[in-house]
Amino acid sequence: MLYTNVCKHCHKVFKSKIRTLCCKECRNLDEDQLDDIVKYLKQYPNSNALQISEELGIHPFEIIKFMEEGWLGESKGEFSRLPD
Ligand SMILES: [Zn+2]
Repeated sequence: MLYTNVCKHCHKVFKSKIRTLCCKECRNLDEDQLDDIVKYLKQYPNSNALQISEELGIHPFEIIKFMEEGWLGESKGEFSRLPD
């Protein structure tokens, strides 16, 4: 089955096999922002969306979208679930 998605950057409606909030055309933009956020969270793991937003100049809404997509949750999970 295919999901109907709306791109958070260009607001294009598109279908894909996975639930995502970014279309192929905007994927580069997404990866750049995500890269910055992940780097920031490695340095400051307990930051909230607002702090990240102020520091990186990315709208908090974008950061919350990344969180909803599971990107940031996953990276946090790795940190908190390291094997002994
Ligand atoms: Zn797009």
